[in-house]
Order: sequence, then C-alpha cells, then structure tokens
Amino acid sequence: MNETFPNWLKQRANLTPNRLAVKAENEELTFDELYKRVQNRVKQLISHGVKRDDHIGVLMKNSVDMIEVIHALFSVGAIAVLLNHRLTNQELAFQLSDAEAVSVICHEELAGKLGEKVNVIVVDHLKEIESPVYIEEIEEFKADQVATIMYTSGTTGYPKGVLQTFGNHWSSAIGSALNLGIVQEDRWLLAVPLFHISGLSILFRSVIYGIGIVLFERFDAKKMNRAILEDGVTIVSVVTTMLNQMLVDLGHNKYPESFRCMLAGGGPVPKDLLEKSLTKQIPVFQTYGMTETSSQIVTLSPEYSMKKVGSAGKPLFLCQMKIMQNGRECSPFEEGEIFVKGPTITKGYWKREEATKNGFTNGWFHTGDQGYIDNHGFLYVLDRRSDLIISGGENVYPAEIENVLLSYPAVQDAGVVGIEDKKWGQVPYAFLVTTEKIDREDLLAYCQERLAKYKVPHHITFLEELPRNASNKLLRKDLRKYLEKGMSK
Ligand code: ATP
Ligand code: MG
Repeated sequence: MNETFPNWLKQRANLTPNRLAVKAENEELTFDELYKRVQNRVKQLISHGVKRDDHIGVLMKNSVDMIEVIHALFSVGAIAVLLNHRLTNQELAFQLSDAEAVSVICHEELAGKLGEKVNVIVVDHLKEIESPVYIEEIEEFKADQVATIMYTSGTTGYPKGVLQTFGNHWSSAIGSALNLGIVQEDRWLLAVPLFHISGLSILFRSVIYGIGIVLFERFDAKKMNRAILEDGVTIVSVVTTMLNQMLVDLGHNKYPESFRCMLAGGGPVPKDLLEKSLTKQIPVFQTYGMTETSSQIVTLSPEYSMKKVGSAGKPLFLCQMKIMQNGRECSPFEEGEIFVKGPTITKGYWKREEATKNGFTNGWFHTGDQGYIDNHGFLYVLDRRSDLIISGGENVYPAEIENVLLSYPAVQDAGVVGIEDKKWGQVPYAFLVTTEKIDREDLLAYCQERLAKYKVPHHITFLEELPRNASNKLLRKDLRKYLEKGMSK
C-alpha cells in the first residue's frame, strides 16, 4: 500500500470539530478540544527530546492523557511502543530494551516500575507550554509506516514486538465498519486496556469514524451498565468475564434499543452466557483476532449467534481465512491451523526475522491456533496448536477439558496439559484450584459423563493458583515446566 492519509486527528478536528471525541469520568472533550490538547502535548514531547522515528514507550493507564500522548506521538512522527502496566519490572525492561525505546512516557504512579536505563517522561509533571514553540507537525501518515509496536501477550513463548502500520489500523477500522456499520450517534465504551489492540483499535475507530469514546480506567460492571442505560453508549468491547458480570449487575433491566453491539473477544463465549444475553436481547458479536491482525479478523454477527453457537464467525470483508494441515487446505469440519490474509495483518515482528519468515506462507499468516470451518464457512477456534495433546492418535484440546472442569462446583481455575504416556503417547494432566476440598473420584465421574474417555484427565494436581501472564492468560508452558521439574508430586 503506497497510500497516504492526512493526520487522522487533525483531519477529524477539521471535519467535525464539535463532535464528542472522548467522555471520561471527570471530563469531556470534542475533537477540536482534543486536537488542541494534542498540539500542546506535541510541544511538551519535543521539548523533552522526542523526535521523529524514535521508539517511545507508553506505560499508562486508560485515561485522556494516554489518548493525547498516542495522538501526539503520531504527530511528532515517533513510534508508540504500547506497554502493559501489569508486567513485572523485569518483563518491562525486556520489552523496552528489545524495542530500543529511547524514552518512556508514564503516569507518575507507574514510574517506579522503570529502571535507570531509559529516559522517563512523567506525564503528570508536564507543564502547559505557552510560548509559541515552533512545531513541525506530521501532516501525512503513510500506510506502510509503523505506527505502533505492541508485544504479544507471551502465552506461548517470549512476547514478540508486532509492527502495526497505519495501513493495518486503517484497514482494521474499515473492516469493522463494513461489518457493524457506522451510526453518527455511536458511542463506543472503552474499558479494555488501550495498551492492547482491543482498546487501541477503538481509539482509531473513534477518530476515523468521528464517533465518541466513553472511557473507563478499568472494568466496572455497574458503571458500564449505567453508561449503556443513561449515557448513549451503543457499542461495547468486552471479554467473557466482563460480559458475565455485566449481565449479573443488569438483573431484570434491559439495555435501550439504541445499544447495538457487544463485541466479545479474547476467547470463546460459553453457550449459557450467549443464551442469557439473548433472553435480554443483547446483541453479542463474537470475534477472533490477535495482536498480529490489529484486532478482530473474524466476527460472528448476532443473527448467527445462537444458530452457530461457539463459532467465531466469518472473516471481515477485507480478509480471508483457511484451515491448513501439512501444506494442504482442509475440507469442512477437518481440523488444522487457522491461516489468515488481509491488509490488517502485521508486516512482521520487530527484529525477529526468523519468526516473521516462519509466520507467513505466500502472504498467509499462520495464527498458531487450531480450528475448523463448517460447511457454511463459519470458523470454530479449538485451541493453541502448541497445546494440542495427541492421545492414542486422537486430537485432544485442553480448552475443552478445562471448560468441563470449570463447570464443576468449587473448581475455581483449571489448566490442562499433555504428559507423556507409554500406552497412549500423551494423556491429559489437569491442574486445579478449588475453593474447598473436592472428591477426586466424583470429579472424574463428572468428567466421564461429559467427555470422551481419552479426554478425561489421567492425573490431577491441586495448586494454590495457576500461572497466568500480565494479560491474565493461562500459561500452559509453565504447567509443562512444573511437570518436567517433577514439582507436581
Ligand atoms: P503469544 O503470541 O505471545 O503466545 P497471545 O497469542 O496470547 O501471546 P494475543 O495476540 O494477545 O497474544 O492473543 C491472541 C490469541 O488469543 C489468539 O491467537 C487466540 O489463541 C486467542 N483468541 C483470541 N480470540 C479468540 C476466540 N474468539 N476464541 C479462542 N481463542 C481466541
Ligand atoms: Mg499469539
């Protein structure tokens, strides 16, 4: 793509200056007001040495400041490296050095997480610059120019820095609009982290579509429901646990008809939750995507949400998908690796030539996820390819077993990995966190009723907690490490 775009925020402030850009708990800004704030930020950042093409870390909580900083970095021509503030100090140090960040912009409360190797710019200390500092604002963004570097969650290995271009973000916003449509009155509730692609993509949609963001620092079911009921929110992005708590809090209330989309990503939505949503006439759109696809790439529209329970849907208009097994495209219902193609997909990982090369075949990106497509083209995501257990020649997906275990009373958390077995090759091994002591035999009987014999765990170990990363994703690789070290006994 050789296209260029006019600076997104400047263009939006020029086209519809008086529309709401962002409504946070304590303030509201129009696009014109946001643009003026960003111009001031640009001066501040330049006076702190931020230059064009610099890699600048952003370690901030969801806030208007964070939105201003991201837009300001684009206006300076710097690349924003979005950092998860739940990472440990060591993990942050790795990402900052790997990304070759020259400075980090952070909130004061997070500054203590940073070492001395990097220049720290505390956003709370930045002063309004009144003198007319000359600023050379970037007027155009190039489609193939890297806008952001965002690390993968590190669920299957070390996090990799994903290069996301302006073209990727643009295509992602357009793909979503072609699926959901745009209504001028739309307001998108943003309570997922802005440092993840699920949150960041909402920022781009807002400025590209000219719609407002209702911003939350963190998830709060009660406040979010109030925003939908009273504040004109029409779309919300959630993960399953958020949806669950919002339904509980909603009780017998119903969302207004103007509320048109609950976009649920990050993992599959359980069937009973979908059924509950449907009885309350909540339009849940299930989606599948990843950092490398610059947010959703496959989405299920609500007219199919009950007919295709468990499906992540079909690719967005600009994208394609297929299932591959040993270099061959699978037929319907045949399981294999999900491959995707389209303009939302990264051009590669920062400084990881090998991983980039191995990640693509003829322009198709290998997602590392297993799944199948039914005879009508709907995708079903099964699990990570690297976590697949092969037992007696059968494919066993840990997620399926974990879901059954989690539905058992008193099971709070569950993780399943494969362990070598002389007879079967591999067998499932379950790690559980429970709220009270449970009877192993009862639990196994429960599993036997719900799972084919070869899927029933052969071993169970009880732990205080399961290893999870800063994105709260289960680290099965660490469970496998426990087994290798023999610590489970
Ligand atoms: P890493 O690549 O470092 O191991 P990660 O893959 O967890 O980390 P992300 O890009 O945040 O990092 O997560 C994307 C992954 O989340 C997908 O590859 C997939 O495994 C999972 N996922 C996303 N949406 C769904 C869905 N609808 N159903 C099942 N899994 C999903
Ligand atoms: Mg991944």
